[in-house]
Amino acid sequence: MIKQHVHQKHLPRPPKLNEHTSLKTFVDDTNVNVFPQNREYLEAMFPYFPRTVVCCGAYLTPAELAWKINWHWEVLLSMAKIALNAGRLKKADVPTVERLVAEVAAVAPSPAVGYLDSGKLGVPADPSPAERVTERHRVITIWKEKFRAILSRTDLRSRPLAFLKDSPRKLHEPKRWWSHAVNTVDAPETSNHGRFYAFDLGADDQDHNTLALRIRIERISVGLGAGFRNDEDTHVHVEFPQGVKG
Ligand SMILES: [Zn+2]
Repeated sequence: MIKQHVHQKHLPRPPKLNEHTSLKTFVDDTNVNVFPQNREYLEAMFPYFPRTVVCCGAYLTPAELAWKINWHWEVLLSMAKIALNAGRLKKADVPTVERLVAEVAAVAPSPAVGYLDSGKLGVPADPSPAERVTERHRVITIWKEKFRAILSRTDLRSRPLAFLKDSPRKLHEPKRWWSHAVNTVDAPETSNHGRFYAFDLGADDQDHNTLALRIRIERISVGLGAGFRNDEDTHVHVEFPQGVKG
């Protein structure tokens, strides 16, 4: 789903705010690996962003891209179980979500838990062969779309989560878990997170994650020369194939 709020292709370079003074505050290092190849982009962009904006995603190795599929697999399955248990789905949608749980569980990674709670990219490692990852990606992509439609017919998104005993602990953190469950994730082979110029920029704190902040991220990024960008609700995905105009 392409969601852009800023339609200009070019905007004047934004002012330097200097609210971040180094990558230390700008980069969320549990989710971002800084390499020499993406450091130059990050160094060039951080002075322009407000203190409440951090880089929460960047280049991923092929193994980390596969791991990200597993992370999404775990969020989708966990949230579908929570949705079933909450008893607020439309009656006609219950069998569909039961099928979601069965079909998504059938393409489980190995191990089948621990991606959300690990706090470290790539951990736990999953030795699944590439075909199995591709199949897992195919299955979750289909079900994420169906689940998005089902959720739109409930009030679950505006209610506190009713956790299950086996829900990952991470879900207790106030994040947009329903959005994470239904947001699409690119296949490892085609993800632009396999490129050094792709970044996810988002709020440093859930309370700061507003539409206004995400629009501001988009405007600043376009002013710095971003081409493709997409509001993912949880963050904004931005790409600088021509570099950052600093
Ligand atoms: Zn992204």
